[in-house]
Amino acid sequence: MEDSEAIEQLRLCAGCPKMCRHMCPTFLAWRSDSPTPHGRALLMYQDAKGTRALDERAIEVLYQCLECSQCLTWCLPQVDIATMVENERMRLVNEGRYPRGLDKISSAIKTNHNPFAEPHGKRNKWFVPTKTQGKKILYFTGCTAAYHENGIARSTVSILSHLGYKVSVTPDEWCCGSPLFRTGFRNLGIEQARHNADTLNKSEGEQIVVTCPGCFRAFTKDYPQLGIELKKPVLHISQLLEKHLDALRAVDFGGPITYHDPCHLGRHSGIYDPPRKVIERVSGTKVVEMARSRENAMCCGNGAGMRTLFTDQASTIGDARVSQAREVGAKFLVTSCPFCKNMLASRAGKMLIVLDLPEMVLAAFDSTSKVKM
Ligand code: SF4
Ligand code: SF4
Repeated sequence: MEDSEAIEQLRLCAGCPKMCRHMCPTFLAWRSDSPTPHGRALLMYQDAKGTRALDERAIEVLYQCLECSQCLTWCLPQVDIATMVENERMRLVNEGRYPRGLDKISSAIKTNHNPFAEPHGKRNKWFVPTKTQGKKILYFTGCTAAYHENGIARSTVSILSHLGYKVSVTPDEWCCGSPLFRTGFRNLGIEQARHNADTLNKSEGEQIVVTCPGCFRAFTKDYPQLGIELKKPVLHISQLLEKHLDALRAVDFGGPITYHDPCHLGRHSGIYDPPRKVIERVSGTKVVEMARSRENAMCCGNGAGMRTLFTDQASTIGDARVSQAREVGAKFLVTSCPFCKNMLASRAGKMLIVLDLPEMVLAAFDSTSKVKM
């Protein structure tokens, strides 16, 4: 690290009371001072000052960060640990000094254009075109909904058709690059980004809708920062549904509903109200907020390569988030991210129903007066 402003920030962090630890999900998972905001700051500071270079353990600690930016909401001097960690990861990848467990994500994306090593040809297998002839919209599905959470993808197409859109998907969709940007593989991410921008700019949709906040952040933040231009408006599904609140059906869900803010949608993109307005419209009830919500929402544990590299600790964080939903008596835990949904549903058990926003909206469309689940 050579940026003197960043080094000064790290110095400030070294002298702080460090109570951001109690908000850091990885401190909860490891109960150790190293995988915390200031633990990471100290390692980067020592490296920057030349007192001790990053060794294998230090690199592991930098890869134990979820890049959730929860620490930034707590930090008075606004030390942006997540961004500094991401920049360090980029350097480590360029030097070939990253955890080898990440090779399976990066090589799968290079070969198959998704992190799950699924055949690219199966990406749109879930898609059944509808006959609606309204405004043309392109649904950029994202890898998780395309391969592992088809219910979200199908619900999205159904709802958009109910709302009168002519929905298309493209066989040339590649991973948006988010898992690569977050783990330091920026050059490979740029390849994905350039390809997607060419594809989307040529597509017939007048606008692009995404259900994945990782794609949303990539398109609206990463691509512009890299000088890669998308020439059509990009909306997250929660923003699009917010524009159609009056057309959504309201039914009785029969129990309290809480909402989990995905880090990429909330803290990283500032979208907090649209999903809540949609939930309140289709359920006719107020969202019951967890103790940690909106800017203070806790990460689900799935971010920035964590589940791939540290599966047990990722699950510990997922368990903690699910417990927070149970603490407020929720029957439904709704989120607005296929990746969060996948993690939370895997930890929730039978008494808590985890839904992604389009699934919830479609459940209301498909029910007469009361949702049965
Ligand atoms: S990240 Fe901020 S709050 Fe946490 S130890 Fe560093 S300066 Fe203090
Ligand atoms: S970004 Fe999240 S996981 Fe990383 S240090 Fe900050 S609070 Fe902890």
